[in-house]
Amino acid sequence: MTGPHSSDPLTGREARGGGPDGALSAERVFAAGARLAAESARFNGFGWMRGTSGNLSEVVGRDPLRLAVTASGLDKGELAETDVAVVGPDGAAVGVEGVTPLVPSAEAGLHARVAALTGADAVVHVHALSAVVAAHHWPRGVRLRDVETLKGIGRLAHDDEVVIPVIRNSQDMVELGDRFEEAFDPRTPAVLVASHGLYAWGADLKRARHVTECVEWLLSYAIATR
Ligand SMILES: [Zn+2]
Repeated sequence: MTGPHSSDPLTGREARGGGPDGALSAERVFAAGARLAAESARFNGFGWMRGTSGNLSEVVGRDPLRLAVTASGLDKGELAETDVAVVGPDGAAVGVEGVTPLVPSAEAGLHARVAALTGADAVVHVHALSAVVAAHHWPRGVRLRDVETLKGIGRLAHDDEVVIPVIRNSQDMVELGDRFEEAFDPRTPAVLVASHGLYAWGADLKRARHVTECVEWLLSYAIATR
C-alpha cells in the first residue's frame, strides 16, 4: 500500500476509496461480525455499551490494513453477524463483494490507528462509567500498583507502576489518533478518552475482552479507594 491509488497485489483492483477489496471474502467478514456481535452483547450486558454507544473491531487484513468494525447507529445488544462494516487505515469504508455496505462507526479511524500502531488484531471501545470517572479524577493518567489484577493486563502484581494514559476527547479521529500515538505506552494495552470512554486491545478479541474487563475493574478499584 503506497498511496491512495495503489491496487490490491492479488487482484489488481482498486482497494481504497470504496472500491471492492477482492482479497477479502464475505465469509471472513461475517465470521468476524459474529464474534463482534457476541462480544458487543456481552459488554452491553455489563452496561458498557448503552444505547448505540461503543464499537468493536477485528483486523481482517494487514497488507493493506482492513478492519471489520461494528456498524454505526445500531443497538449493541442486538447485533447480527451482518451488522459489520469493513474499513481501511483511515477508517473509511471499503467495499467487499457479498457484503452490504453499512456505515462504519465514526470512531473506526481510531480503531485503525490503534491496530496499526500496536499490532493488535482486536480493539474494544466501550463507554464504561468507571473510565469516564477515572479520567475526570486523573486527567494526566491513572496510576496503579501492587494489585493482583494488573497481571490481567500483562503487568506485574508487585513493584510495577502502571499508568493508564488519558487523552482529551475530539470528534476528529485524526486528532484523536495523534493524541493516542503521543500517549501510547507499549506496556499498557489500554487508553482512556476523557469525558468519553475506554479503548483496549489484544492479539484477538478474547484477549481484548480480558484486558477490557481487567482495566474496568482496576479503574473501579482506583475510584473506590481514592
Ligand atoms: Zn465512543
